[in-house]
Amino acid sequence: MLVETGPLIMHQLARAGLDAGAIEHLFVSHGHGDHTLGFPMLALNRRPAPTPLHVYTGRSAAATLQVLCRVSYAGLAMDEQVDIVWHALREEQSHTLPLTPQVTLRTATMPHPPGVPTLAARWDFVGGPSITFVTDTFFNEAAIALAQGSDLLIHEASYSAVLQPEQDPGVNHHSNARQAGQVARRAGCRRLALVHLGAEIGDHPDVLAEEARGDSALAVIVPDDGARVRLGESA
Ligand SMILES: [Zn+2]
Repeated sequence: MLVETGPLIMHQLARAGLDAGAIEHLFVSHGHGDHTLGFPMLALNRRPAPTPLHVYTGRSAAATLQVLCRVSYAGLAMDEQVDIVWHALREEQSHTLPLTPQVTLRTATMPHPPGVPTLAARWDFVGGPSITFVTDTFFNEAAIALAQGSDLLIHEASYSAVLQPEQDPGVNHHSNARQAGQVARRAGCRRLALVHLGAEIGDHPDVLAEEARGDSALAVIVPDDGARVRLGESA
C-alpha cells in the first residue's frame, strides 16, 4: 500500500524500483499539495491498469484528488482504463477496514487546520507487525491511542525543538521530533521513523533522531526515500 502521492511520487517510485501498475492500494492523509499533487501522474502511469487502484482517504481529500485529475487530464478520475475504486471515508469518525484477510486498516481523525480534515492510519498484519502513520498534526492523544503498541510508528517531524527552539510547531498543526518521540514512547511503539522533515532541518538527521529518542531506549531512524525497514529485527 502506497502512502501519500506527493509531487515527486513517480520519481520516488522509480528510485524504489516500483512500477505504477504495482500500486494497488493507496492511502492519502489529507488534501494538501505535498500529499496529493502526484496523484494524477500515478493514475496516468497506471494505464492500462491490470488491477484497480483502491484509494483510501477522507471525503474531502478524495474530492481534491478527483479535481486534480480533472484539471490535469480531463476525465482521468472517471476513466475506465484507470479503474480507481474510491474508499472515501467520513473524516469525523474512526474506521476499521479489512484490506485483505491478513491486513486491517484503521484510521483516526487528527487535529488539523480548518477545512483540511486529516487522517492518521494504522495497519495490523495478522500474526505480524503493526505500523502506524501520523502526519500533519500536533502532539495529541488520538495519535497516541491509534499507535498503541505499534512495532513501527512513522511520524512527521516538520520542526526540531533543538534546532528551532523558538518555533511552536502546534501553531501550524505540525510536530517537532521531540513530540514524535513522545508519541512513540507514550504509545509503547518499538521503533520510530521520522518523515516529512521541514526544509530547514532535513540535513540534520542525527540531531533529529537524538531529539526524538531523548534519554529513552527508543529506536529512531530517519529513513531516505525508498529505504527498506525489516520489522521484527532489532534496530
Ligand atoms: Zn504535509
